[in-house]
Amino acid sequence: MNAIEIKNLKKTYTVGRKNSVEALKGIDLTVEEGEIFGYLGPNGAGKTTTLKILLGLISPTEGSVNLMGYQHEEARFHVRIGYVPEDHSYYPHLKVRQFLNYMSDLSSADGNLMERVEKVVEEFKLQKAYEKRMGDLSLGWRQKVALAAAFIDEPQLLILDEPTSGLDPESVEDFIATMKNGKSKGQTILFCSHQLSEVEKLADRIGIISKGEIVKTGSVQELLTDSGASTLNELFLETMENSN
Ligand code: ATP
Repeated sequence: MNAIEIKNLKKTYTVGRKNSVEALKGIDLTVEEGEIFGYLGPNGAGKTTTLKILLGLISPTEGSVNLMGYQHEEARFHVRIGYVPEDHSYYPHLKVRQFLNYMSDLSSADGNLMERVEKVVEEFKLQKAYEKRMGDLSLGWRQKVALAAAFIDEPQLLILDEPTSGLDPESVEDFIATMKNGKSKGQTILFCSHQLSEVEKLADRIGIISKGEIVKTGSVQELLTDSGASTLNELFLETMENSN
């Protein structure tokens, strides 16, 4: 089954009275269930716009989205989705413990609320931050808490915008292990990243978007073989040059 199916998705933002920005120009994209999919593109290409539409945070101008076989409007009632936005500053006055308990409480998953919190605290090594206020955390710790919150109800689908932003190298390795573990449990993960070495380690397939259009999709290996590039970084730069 396709976990994500996007057809002819368009988004035009209206800016002021007269101007508009065509952020998505009719993209088609599928992500299979259980796949880790890296969504790449330069700044302003349309990645966050795509994710926000998938999450129902903004409406598309045209096109359709299916999640786990459900039409978009239905999906929110049936599909557990974990999300980490690009910019977040959740509840600065709450302690990490209170925040995670609250997120666990909101979850529709079966099981014990406290056990779920304990599990992510362990998985994301949050013990040191547990009694600190969210607003007092450093960037990397805030990111780890945001990731933990996204994983808290064992979502079927994870949508992560720059998930390793601010993480130190050890935390990045832990995060990669968590993603692989999620995949082994059948979770589907769509993530955006500018860290191409991480994408190379993690993604089963990638999609590259440029100026609101998908310009490449496939496994990293397939795309490298087709293009003759030796690294994903080289492939990405070549693709950008050709799409200009
Ligand atoms: P980055 O890698 O920098 O995060 P991105 O690929 O996520 O970029 P988007 O944030 O989706 O890109 O933006 C796509 C285009 O839409 C850009 O030209 C951006 O300026 C424009 N855009 C995004 N949000 C809005 C908005 N609310 N109003 C007007 N234009 C917007």
